[in-house]
Amino acid sequence: METILDYLNAQHYNKPVPEELRDIFDETEYQKSQDYKRTNYRFGLLTSTFSLLLTLVFLIFGGFEWMDNIVRGFTDNQIIMALLFFGIIMIGSDIITTPFSYYQTFVIEERFGFNKSTKKLFFTDKLKGWLMMVVFGGGILALIIWFFQWAGSDFWIYAWALVTIFTIFMNLFYSRLIVPLFNKQEPLENGSLKSKIEAYAKNVGFELKNIFVIDGSKRSTKANAYFSGFGKEKRVTLYDTLIKDLNEEEIVAVLAHEVGHYKRKHIVFNLLTSIVVTGLTLLILSLFINNPEVSLAIGVSQPSFHAALIGFGILYSPISEVTGLVMNLLSRKFEYQADDYAKNTFAALPLITSLKKLSKNSLSNLTPHPAYVFMHYSHPPLVDRIRNLKKTHS
Ligand SMILES: [Zn+2]
Repeated sequence: METILDYLNAQHYNKPVPEELRDIFDETEYQKSQDYKRTNYRFGLLTSTFSLLLTLVFLIFGGFEWMDNIVRGFTDNQIIMALLFFGIIMIGSDIITTPFSYYQTFVIEERFGFNKSTKKLFFTDKLKGWLMMVVFGGGILALIIWFFQWAGSDFWIYAWALVTIFTIFMNLFYSRLIVPLFNKQEPLENGSLKSKIEAYAKNVGFELKNIFVIDGSKRSTKANAYFSGFGKEKRVTLYDTLIKDLNEEEIVAVLAHEVGHYKRKHIVFNLLTSIVVTGLTLLILSLFINNPEVSLAIGVSQPSFHAALIGFGILYSPISEVTGLVMNLLSRKFEYQADDYAKNTFAALPLITSLKKLSKNSLSNLTPHPAYVFMHYSHPPLVDRIRNLKKTHS
């Protein structure tokens, strides 16, 4: 299904650009943008075929059983067994797919002028990523198995509580604890931009004390801005690339959109929804975890929590596809609401021009296929957002 969607989307690359978007690119720039999309499409086909083959080879030739035996040779402890099992799978598959991400960064992104990362940065990022996975992923997995040994199939309630606490904690402290491992961030310096942002925030009654600038330019020329945390930990982070590419009016418009997400309670809603979905998933997992067939399904003869978890993950993917689709549907609705908020409390025009600049700078797809949008887009296509912003009544 994914491949069909990618294919349909690629068929739309040469569609005429909608009237409203004609001023974004000139002819040569548009050719470059089309080239970028086609290159990524072909490369995506290659990587997805490779990972499908890898998974099939593993399943058909008993890869999981082989790994399970290796792990069992080391220890009898269920928790250590599971940690080794998942550690080998995660880090192993990451190493195997590294040539692909390396090519993506240093050949494709480089060729189109996006890449600013160095080889050293690329590999230190990878090591830090692994370290985080070992600490957080390993810690959570170990605790969940411990709950399972202790509470049987009721483990899901405790696991849910744990994941919920972790999610909220990360939401609050992500910018403070995790971001500094990868980026430098500094408070936005006093000046006209800061006063404009503060004037807007005050005007709409939005308390905003923490405005940070992050050195996104050390990896890529693509620009971004985001909100994180809530309550006292609430902060807005602007990429230095955003400040470079947009004028001050446009930056305030982008912020007004983000404030819209806050005011319309999207942030809290998304957090609560993800907690509910996690609970449901864990509940369904608890119904299957004791069933030896789930371990057998991936070819592991000695049933265990870790083998059943892998089997469950594979079998569950159609369901998570559906929940993802529903979340995307909601998210696109929220984007319109946030755009409307920015339009009503600030102005539509600077938001329109900023969206155009951002989409030009990332060579984004101006003519996506509707089916692809329906399945994968968390934001409405640019032309629909602009049409909505231009409407006089909302
Ligand atoms: Zn948004």
